Amino acid sequence: MGDVAALPTAKTGAAVRKQAPVVVDNILKLIAHKTADNKGYNGYSSCPLVTGYGKMVLAEFGYGNKRMSDPLISTFVDTTKEQWSMWILKKYGLPYLYWNLMLRGKA
Ligand SMILES: Cc1cc2nc3c(=O)[nH]c(=O)nc-3n(C[C@H](O)[C@H](O)[C@H](O)COP(=O)(O)OP(=O)(O)OC[C@H]3O[C@@H](n4cnc5c(N)ncnc54)[C@H](O)[C@@H]3O)c2cc1C
Repeated sequence: MGDVAALPTAKTGAAVRKQAPVVVDNILKLIAHKTADNKGYNGYSSCPLVTGYGKMVLAEFGYGNKRMSDPLISTFVDTTKEQWSMWILKKYGLPYLYWNLMLRGKA
């Protein structure tokens, strides 16, 4: 998984975050002598694009670069529109997510 995976989608930390639980589930199944049949990863990837001071859009897509949105994020915000809230996410939220949650397997 991650940047070395030969998957037809963009290589991002966002993709790793969605791939990791699927890989872990499959490894645990193999350890338990079960079939590694979790195909739950749908190609999701996303790139935060800072479009100006205090403005950002989140380009979200899946396999084949088809537009897709994280169900949780899209509940709160339209990621296709330049927004201050998205910029705050990039500046403060994502670093916290990377360092404190993702790297510890909590998100
Ligand atoms: C400039 C830039 C900005 C980015 N911004 C974003 C962003 O905003 N959001 C986002 O989601 N993604 C972003 N990405 C993409 C994201 O950083 C990568 O997709 C993600 O880090 C891939 O994680 P990985 O664990 O697969 O690989 P890596 O993070 O590359 O980890 C691989 C590790 O393996 C180590 N390694 C390599 N060879 C060996 C070896 N022989 N022995 C031991 N260790 C080895 C490397 O040193 C490295 O630490 C960005 C990438 C770049 C370059």
